[in-house]
Amino acid sequence: METDAKATETPETLLGAVRYFGHADVALAFLVGLRWPNGVICPHCSGTRHSFLRSRRIWKCLGCRKQFSVKVGTIFEDSPIGLDKWLPCVWMIANCKNGISSYEVARALGVTQKTAWFMLHRCRLAMQTGSFGKFGGQVEVDQTFIGGKARFMHKEKRARVIKGTGGMEKAAVMGLLERHGSDGHSTVRVSVVPNTKKARLQSKIRENVEAGSEVFTDALLSYEGLDADFIHGEIDHSEKYVDGQIHTNGLENFWSLLKRAIKGTYVSVQPFHLFRYLDEQTFRFNARKTNDGVRFVSVLRGIVGKRLTYKKLIGSDLPLCSGIPDPI
Ligand SMILES: [Zn+2]
Repeated sequence: METDAKATETPETLLGAVRYFGHADVALAFLVGLRWPNGVICPHCSGTRHSFLRSRRIWKCLGCRKQFSVKVGTIFEDSPIGLDKWLPCVWMIANCKNGISSYEVARALGVTQKTAWFMLHRCRLAMQTGSFGKFGGQVEVDQTFIGGKARFMHKEKRARVIKGTGGMEKAAVMGLLERHGSDGHSTVRVSVVPNTKKARLQSKIRENVEAGSEVFTDALLSYEGLDADFIHGEIDHSEKYVDGQIHTNGLENFWSLLKRAIKGTYVSVQPFHLFRYLDEQTFRFNARKTNDGVRFVSVLRGIVGKRLTYKKLIGSDLPLCSGIPDPI
């Protein structure tokens, strides 16, 4: 096997991915080409001189004398699951529009549901993208409430803010959407917020949006005063949903996709895992104008430098969790 093979070929379908990556050497060459396009580099000392132990598909660094596999320093580190299962798993979560449950992955790949659940969460970490630069131009801002407990919200406030939606079990989520960004498509950033108070929402907006941009919101009082820094367009949903350019329909569309995935596929999501599902849906939304192969490769570009241990994932140090991961 050429250990410095370039990733020249990307499958186009899930079936193609399963067949293609079913060959351990092909899967390795693909990932090596993606991770080290200019030749293998030791993740311990950045050395470029090493010998390849073909039978174990690992390298021995001639500089620091340590051994390493392509998984070291990535979300795959310490996982006994082979790339022949990992890569189709990445493919599925990158491309299933409504997400994919750990039960489906377990059945498709022949692993336990618990393993699949852990694999999917590691993939979600790879799908987490940093927020580079501020949004500009026209930006929609909106908030919604999603499964889980509104633990941080005062009872009276909760009753006032969330009417008739079973708000007792909801967590607040805030979203920003830049219309017609640099690639011509809209892009979202979403995060869980402890409350929807003015200070909280407005500081998020100022962190993420260039002063002077057009900002469109609904008539929530928390948005009052934005016109000091932005051109603020407000739409009162009790009167109408669109007033020319002033609407939040882009984000409404995103919320409906998100809720479909959470309610339809994931069924129950613990509050402290919610941000991972937001990362997943945000990734797919922002890459929606590409194709399955491109989305797959783009998740793989996010695997390096990230690790998620099982202990950290289940938050065993958090009093909230019983130590048993949620079933989905
Ligand atoms: Zn080394």
